[in-house]
Amino acid sequence: MGKVLIIGAGGVGTVVAKKVAMNSDIFTEIMLASRTKSKCDKIVAEIKNVHIRTAAVDADNVDELCRLFDDFKPELVINVALPYQDLSIMEACLRSGVNYLDTANYEPLDEAKYEYSWQWAYHDRFREAGLTAILGCGFDPGCTSVYTAYAAKHHFDEIHYLDIVDCNGGDHHKAFATNFNPEINIREITQRGKYYEDGNWHETDPLSVHKTLNYPNIGPRESYLMYHEELESLVKNFPSIKRARFWMTFGQEYLTHLRVLQNVGMTRIDPVLYNGMEIVPIQFLKAVLPDPGELGENYSGETSIGCRIRGVKDGKERTYYIWNNCSHQAAYQETGAQGVSYTTGVPATTGAMMFFRGLWRKPGVFNVEDFDPDPFMQEVAKQGLPWHEAHDLDLEL
Ligand code: NDP
Repeated sequence: MGKVLIIGAGGVGTVVAKKVAMNSDIFTEIMLASRTKSKCDKIVAEIKNVHIRTAAVDADNVDELCRLFDDFKPELVINVALPYQDLSIMEACLRSGVNYLDTANYEPLDEAKYEYSWQWAYHDRFREAGLTAILGCGFDPGCTSVYTAYAAKHHFDEIHYLDIVDCNGGDHHKAFATNFNPEINIREITQRGKYYEDGNWHETDPLSVHKTLNYPNIGPRESYLMYHEELESLVKNFPSIKRARFWMTFGQEYLTHLRVLQNVGMTRIDPVLYNGMEIVPIQFLKAVLPDPGELGENYSGETSIGCRIRGVKDGKERTYYIWNNCSHQAAYQETGAQGVSYTTGVPATTGAMMFFRGLWRKPGVFNVEDFDPDPFMQEVAKQGLPWHEAHDLDLEL
């Protein structure tokens, strides 16, 4: 049915390649391309029975991307490289007539700045070309955005308060490691916090606002208010929202390491001169930290990510909680990757299935909540991320 090109062969790319191969009735021709071809070949060697081509590509280079697109002629590109490559891949999609899906919004290399404006600016060009771009189809953004759309469609006339709650209750048994690309992860966590209330964005010092939240099957965990990109599209797409916040759990050990790394300058994103050569400290740090793709084997525990919502239905105030718990070990057994890569790669694959089935396909650039949530919700559960819901709990919102 469909020809797909996956770009990026890290933790998330591993899961996408494996899940796409498991659905070869839909993904009839598959290519995995990344900066380092040997990483693609290693992933593909673990996939039996399904033929997957591999290629080297520098996704910062639009001409190089176009040559690959024109040669393989994919219908859809799943971009699971880094956020820095979003615009070059979108540009190449327009030039070569290819549809687009990603899991993280564009971020300039020299500035940790998170906003959709750069990608939304492509809307008219994608529309005129008759191409679909699906933005933010991982877990958060991704499932959390679809959960919100599902809640709005089925359980509320108006959503007023939204808290996205992201808990990693797992233990990888390392002193310090990040669960996805360390550079992207640390840039995100060390930025100033931001939440939306009554039509305005409010900033907070990094990780300064926190409280204990209870997570299903995990228990109480200290949760920190952070800015997360889906807040921007959700408050735009659901204008009844009065307040939207994002919370993520961190252990004390993690925060202590992070503070020390910041204090000694290792999280800096600007170049410094070292032995006459320019290096970027955070890029060097990435090189010495554990590879998130290798954490799976000894990872125990689970993640729990969901949306806690308060609003009105038929004139009555209601609360609603929808979430998924994902076991790191189960994810590892199935794909060789830990739960955070899994919870990103499975929704990306599911979004691509929605595209090829013609259910999530319309010309322009859209966030996932712009599409019908129902078929995605059904499929993502089948693909390994079942969801649970509870009504009218006493949620602290
Ligand atoms: P990794 O660092 O493990 O993998 C990134 C991959 O992209 C690597 O294979 C890397 O190649 C490749 N790459 C980097 N630069 C280029 C380039 N210029 N050209 C071609 N390939 C390139 O990251 P993850 O797999 O952990 O994350 C992938 C994406 O998923 C990120 O954008 C991340 O933000 C997003 N994500 C989204 C989440 C969500 O819930 N929405 C959650 C977690 C992650 P090489 O190895 O050669 O450097």
